[in-house]
Amino acid sequence: MNKNIDTQNQTDPTRVEKTEAEWREQLTPAQYDVLRGKGTERPFTGAYVHEKRDGTYRCAGCGAQLFSSSTKFESGTGWPSFTEPADRANVELVDDYSFGMHRIEVNCAACGGHLGHVFPDGPGATRERYCINSCSLEFDES
Ligand SMILES: [Zn+2]
Repeated sequence: MNKNIDTQNQTDPTRVEKTEAEWREQLTPAQYDVLRGKGTERPFTGAYVHEKRDGTYRCAGCGAQLFSSSTKFESGTGWPSFTEPADRANVELVDDYSFGMHRIEVNCAACGGHLGHVFPDGPGATRERYCINSCSLEFDES
């Protein structure tokens, strides 16, 4: 079902390397669970599900610019949803076969942190729906 999404990455290997202890120190337990543990926050619980302000969403792990408010849309899923990344080179897409499904995982290219998944049913020209955990993001209002 994900065959229309181009998972070819344009990225250098992970640039931000930290030990698990350093990540635990820096991140909240919820952020750690998502970014480092590939967890998923419960739907409709994240800080940015209904965020409507203009601005930039950055990686909560390393500050990399990930998504722009101009691509955010109301998906009804309970997670912040975007039609495309701010810069494709800043995210890394990886095949994920966990839970008996084939999904495409979205990671921060700079620190390797898990952000969410991308699905091929978005409303924009790309047809992509980036389904991202609020926990993995920090919002800068512009
Ligand atoms: Zn990052």
